Amino acid sequence: MDIQERLLAKATKFKTSYYVIRGSSKGNTVMVTAGVHGDERANILSAKKLMRMLQNDILRINQGTLIIVPIVNQNAYKRRIRGIPDLNRTFPRKPNEAARHPLSAALFRLAAEFQPAWYIDLHEARGFSKVNPKVLGQTLIANPKSGAIPLVKQIVARMNRSIAKKSTHFSVRLRKLPGSGRTAAHRLLHSKAITVETSCNLPVSVRVNYQIKILRNILNEAGLIKDDDLVGSQQSKAATF
Ligand SMILES: [Zn+2]
Repeated sequence: MDIQERLLAKATKFKTSYYVIRGSSKGNTVMVTAGVHGDERANILSAKKLMRMLQNDILRINQGTLIIVPIVNQNAYKRRIRGIPDLNRTFPRKPNEAARHPLSAALFRLAAEFQPAWYIDLHEARGFSKVNPKVLGQTLIANPKSGAIPLVKQIVARMNRSIAKKSTHFSVRLRKLPGSGRTAAHRLLHSKAITVETSCNLPVSVRVNYQIKILRNILNEAGLIKDDDLVGSQQSKAATF
């Protein structure tokens, strides 16, 4: 496994670190972004935790390539604001259309360079989707007709099996959001794109735990890791006895 740190938008005031982690053999590319909104916490903590797990060899990429951008919008993060403008409305909406912000332009160029099979954007939102269908806390979101939908449904079912309190269960949402990173990756790069939204009404340690579990499920599905400790997956353990 090889880990490289690089700079995104390095000639601008928006520069931020990202990591390219390559397994020992070829395989799928997965891109993970966090901190597109600067006022969300558990997503950034989770991306950093995932990096520490890789750096300390707790988690190992066997095949393929993982790209992690732990804090996309550093300026918004320093001020703990969502960001002005909202970066997640500035990604290109059509082929050959430019992004409307230097940072989303740099991030989209990076994605276009690597053509990730999976594009995972980590966020947080208020409330609980099972209690109020209008809010996005505890949801996994994909675009309608996305190739990511079967896995999104599987992960939501697996996560919910391990969550006792039904009001905090995850839901699936299928939505277009023109200008968002997810919809740009889905439409223009044909990536299987997923937005993860934990609820900021839960304790932060619980939210980080959920985000890491969801990421491990995706990395396992994409073939980057061999995970015998997935939520709801007992086969591999049973097989050893
Ligand atoms: Zn967000």
